[in-house]
Amino acid sequence: MKLLCDHMLGTLATWLRLCGFDTAYASANIDDAGLLDLAQKENRVLITRDKQLLHRAQTRKLTVVGLTSTDLDEQLQQVLWHIPLDPARILTRCSVCNTPLESIEKNRVKEHIPQKVLAHQETFWHCPHCNKIYWEGSHVDKIRKKIDILKKPR
Ligand SMILES: [Zn+2]
Repeated sequence: MKLLCDHMLGTLATWLRLCGFDTAYASANIDDAGLLDLAQKENRVLITRDKQLLHRAQTRKLTVVGLTSTDLDEQLQQVLWHIPLDPARILTRCSVCNTPLESIEKNRVKEHIPQKVLAHQETFWHCPHCNKIYWEGSHVDKIRKKIDILKKPR
């Protein structure tokens, strides 16, 4: 299921990408009508805190997740109630540009990553679009920890 975050939800979009969701993020210069067109055209679930936009999306029979919280953890939790997370998808997309990651050999990235990471990690991925490099360890730990927190009942 593909997602579209409105322009107020940039941090949430980053996290949803890290969780493996194909997540588009609307730039500030796209208006509500453009946003709804994009959701429809690319068949994306719209995620928004804007009640008016929510209403317009529902009128157009688009699938939309309306958030009520400004807190990132609560927002993530609300999205995951509607759209379950597949743990196997964690860290399969670039958090910056949403491009699927590709694995890359350690010796091809060693000049671009900190020495202490090189010493402890064997598996690396990179984004073929923006070249950001990812590895197991801190990234994945951070994501899993966050998701574990979200699963606990409040
Ligand atoms: Zn990228």
